[in-house]
Amino acid sequence: MVSYHKKVRADQTGGQPGNGSPRLGEPLAIEFANTHYAVRGALREGIGTPAHLAAWLRDHSPVPGPGVRVGAAEIKTFRALREAIRSLCHTCVDACPGDDTHVEVLNAAAAAAPRWPQLTCAGGAYAVSERTRAEDADAALAAIARDAIAIFGGPLRTQIRACQAPGCVLFFVKDHPRRQWCSAGCGNRARAARHYQRHRPAPP
Ligand SMILES: [Zn+2]
Repeated sequence: MVSYHKKVRADQTGGQPGNGSPRLGEPLAIEFANTHYAVRGALREGIGTPAHLAAWLRDHSPVPGPGVRVGAAEIKTFRALREAIRSLCHTCVDACPGDDTHVEVLNAAAAAAPRWPQLTCAGGAYAVSERTRAEDADAALAAIARDAIAIFGGPLRTQIRACQAPGCVLFFVKDHPRRQWCSAGCGNRARAARHYQRHRPAPP
């Protein structure tokens, strides 16, 4: 799995990209779902402002180029996509049927930027690149939606997990049999909580 979470850059607001959203190196759509996160049990919004959304997109590069211009309207559409992805993650974790409304949100987002392959030839070497007429923001939205569709419609669907550490709201793809937590930090907190439960003094 690509560990793009290691190249942390500060955004123009002085914080981490995406307002400190976790960087677990998960597939793009899961990483995007995790822009809704918690710190010490308090829920945080990683894409609450255009600056934070732009920083997250710049850092995760769903589309090539220096940056994606976003405003208040994009906050709304990206957050709607994220809620659809998170809801479908929950249905995978709980092995229950998906909600048509969330599926429609995903499909509409994927259709926001139709793409086609383009063949180029330079110096006798052929190369293929993807082209779209969509704005960068729509192309980024569609790229995240396509990744989500590939996950929910493919074998990774059965590997999606919700982290069970106390207060954690993140999802991850179980990429090896012994993985139980979204991160080593959550594993340590969960073990500490279990230790405390086992050894706490009995009530008088
Ligand atoms: Zn966790």
